[in-house]
Amino acid sequence: MDTKQQIKDLFTSLNKCEREVLLTELATIKELDKNADVKNDVKSCPFCSNTNFVKNGKHRGIQRYICKTCNRNFVFSTGSAYQGIKKKDKFESYKSIMFNEGFIPLKTMSSRVGISMQTAFDWRHKILCSLKSTDGKFENITEIDDVWFLYSQKGRKGLKYSRKRGGSKRKGDNDFQVKMLITSDRNNTKDLSVVRIGRLKSNDIERKIGNRLESSSILVSDKHNSIKSFAKKNKITHVSFKSSEHIANNQHHVQTVNSMAARLKGSLNHSFRGVSTKYLQSYANWFQFLETNKGNTDVISIVDKCLDSNNSWDVFTNIETLYKKFIKEYSKRTYRCPTKRGWKTQLKDTVSVTALSYL
Ligand SMILES: [Zn+2]
Repeated sequence: MDTKQQIKDLFTSLNKCEREVLLTELATIKELDKNADVKNDVKSCPFCSNTNFVKNGKHRGIQRYICKTCNRNFVFSTGSAYQGIKKKDKFESYKSIMFNEGFIPLKTMSSRVGISMQTAFDWRHKILCSLKSTDGKFENITEIDDVWFLYSQKGRKGLKYSRKRGGSKRKGDNDFQVKMLITSDRNNTKDLSVVRIGRLKSNDIERKIGNRLESSSILVSDKHNSIKSFAKKNKITHVSFKSSEHIANNQHHVQTVNSMAARLKGSLNHSFRGVSTKYLQSYANWFQFLETNKGNTDVISIVDKCLDSNNSWDVFTNIETLYKKFIKEYSKRTYRCPTKRGWKTQLKDTVSVTALSYL
């Protein structure tokens, strides 16, 4: 009989109380194992990315390191989404609800997990800005379309006018429409990127997915000039048709991206009654992640891998800066009323290149 089976048999021979005790002890071991894994994963200094670092004592049982290049101290969680999180067990259950149950309002999260609204908000965005890490290539037939959301400043304090959500509702008023590019091939490789407020340009496509297409890709879209010129410039085969027809032939359709767009819009408008433009990319990441990992019973371990990445804190603490840059470079809107929130530890003096690709 193999060891695993023996343990299972022994386990069933325990009484209910003994089982409970054992399970708790095992959970602790699992936690220690996990921390050990992460510690081994420290590959570079989160401040200057140099690999020239050494151990520098322990603090409350956690290994500290010092960088020999920039002379700064750090631990395994510095720079990751776990930086600054004290209620670790609550964070774990928060994560599990987010990815096993989907779009749940903050108020519900705060009462179910037992944390303040502010913490619930911070955790959500810490997690979401860590998720966008897919860079796989699109293969063969690749559908592409843009979907728009009304420009929204929901939650921004100090605006002189009352209309924070919505902007103009005039039909075709592109200057208030936040464009999101949705791309998907038939192998579950997807990309949802907020690109600009205004009419989609071929440069936007280039900037967001340019390096993820191959010359063998076949782009399928409705008759959109920007997509057409992007394909032409990059010598990629392009199949297009009138948006009213929807299907060019059996194989060439954009139903995958159309249905994703409809579901994302529906979810954001119903579950959250619209979201602010500042966080639209974060919600797109969440949606994309849920779509890609639908039916995966071990979704949390994939989330964990994303959260360990050491630029999460960088993006999270710089979202306002990234939003400001987005408004200035990719819209005709005016950036107003900066949020006053500051962070004790901003990792780098300037926003890193990786963070910049976020919005
Ligand atoms: Zn360093």
